[in-house]
Amino acid sequence: MPPTVREVFVERGSRLRGYRAIEGLEGPVATLAEKAREVSHLLGSRRVWMINSTRSGGGVAEMLPRMCALMNELGVDTRWLVLEPDDPAFFRVTKGLHNLLHGEPGLDDVEEARKIFDRISQAAAWHLREHVVSGDVLAVHDPQPVGVAACLMPEHRPTLLWRCHIGLPYHNESTRRGWDFLRPYLVPFRRMVFSAESYIPDEYLPRRAVLHPGIDPLSHKNRELRPYKLVGILRSVGLLEGPPVPAWAEFKARAQRWAAGRWEATPIPGLLHRPALVQVSRFDRLKGFQYLIPGFAQMVRAGPERAQHLRVDTSRARSELAQVQLVLAGPDPSGVLDDPEGASVLEELTGQQSALPPEIGARVHLVRLPMEDLKQNALTVNALQRVAAAVLQNSIKEGFGLTVSEALWKGTPVVAANVGGIKVQVRHRRDGLLVDDPSDPAALAEAMVQVLAYPKDAELMACCGRARVREHFLVIAQLTKWMDELRSLLQAPAEPPAPSASAEVPPAA
Ligand code: UDP
Repeated sequence: MPPTVREVFVERGSRLRGYRAIEGLEGPVATLAEKAREVSHLLGSRRVWMINSTRSGGGVAEMLPRMCALMNELGVDTRWLVLEPDDPAFFRVTKGLHNLLHGEPGLDDVEEARKIFDRISQAAAWHLREHVVSGDVLAVHDPQPVGVAACLMPEHRPTLLWRCHIGLPYHNESTRRGWDFLRPYLVPFRRMVFSAESYIPDEYLPRRAVLHPGIDPLSHKNRELRPYKLVGILRSVGLLEGPPVPAWAEFKARAQRWAAGRWEATPIPGLLHRPALVQVSRFDRLKGFQYLIPGFAQMVRAGPERAQHLRVDTSRARSELAQVQLVLAGPDPSGVLDDPEGASVLEELTGQQSALPPEIGARVHLVRLPMEDLKQNALTVNALQRVAAAVLQNSIKEGFGLTVSEALWKGTPVVAANVGGIKVQVRHRRDGLLVDDPSDPAALAEAMVQVLAYPKDAELMACCGRARVREHFLVIAQLTKWMDELRSLLQAPAEPPAPSASAEVPPAA
């Protein structure tokens, strides 16, 4: 199959009533609806298109279907496209680029990488034309599809907006190489929307806007789960002992846990009655899983001694520290097509887990969550974030980190790295605990002790964090800013068309 661009069906729903019913959202929903009316009027018969490079796995794929559904409900005709390259080399290139933009090494052979990127972008641009016409608005998410949009000939080109979800608040040799790679493709973009002001290279400041992502409180990922449902989900996916609950028996696949040196569909012992520290993320080195294992081991070893020096009932704290487990879960790497490094990261983690002394290893659970059924996956993540004593997000670099808002919205305390977009969401000791150096096991061990030994403080912080998420990081606030962006794009006079990065290429006969 040649590289292509495929439209993904977006569920139509009527959710506005549901958002209005959430405390504090009635006013924001009314403002959003008013702005959307204006955008819909300006748009007329034209459309807004969103394009990214995977339909499952990661924050962008999480947000797009929700955003599209809601924009449609608000009267702004919005469709979702996914770039499907025909060659795994494309995602190796874009993962290298992703690492560069996060300040890490990547793309050893830039010339070869550009050849691959251009070849696939040009061929896919041909297919993009089957969907998008000039006059539409095309919002391109992250670097993977920028080439496809930039290769459209000026006469076929819609108004282009780039939504960059990644970035670093400083620049180094790697980020400079990353931006050098991207520069030619960014020429025709009228607007560039970043998750933080500090991520924006100076040359793009005049075209920039800043917008925070948001989570959907009504999605399967975040909706309320009564205890019987939560138990049903965890049993049906195989993470909790006991038979599947009949009402949930339609779950298609079981989670796999690394146990005794192999992957098995086997439950996490005591998931509901022992405290668990849980991180749910893609298996990516930048998510910092690799430091949580030694951090946890250090906490377990030092636990009884450390408990003596706490300002609390030491026997309760000691029992908590003696019981706690670490759950490191993420999507089965085969289900995240645009991240080719997941399998090797997971292999490194299984190596680390297997090397632990058995009594500690028995409390560290690596879990692969099935991705075949996205509703099932979302409900499982929801349930895990709810059963956690605390959710961890130990990212080394983080554009935003949706999992943090997801946990806080559920009232679950958060321990996270003091980096990137996480700092935007969490104020240290007000909304959660931030660890300055996510690669320091001793600092991680101490933060784990704090969140377990002082549960009342942790709950208060989570409560404060939930209020902050309600105000700033829900889909309603996010879409309101999108409407501002779309309005200013649609109102601005058209500029003379910028040249294409290179031409669309018809598929080989
Ligand atoms: N996620 C998921 N299934 C999983 C693991 C993670 O749906 O098995 C979701 C997670 O709940 C969050 C998103 O993937 O919504 C990750 O977004 P984030 O911004 O934290 O990181 P990214 O993957 O975009 O770097």
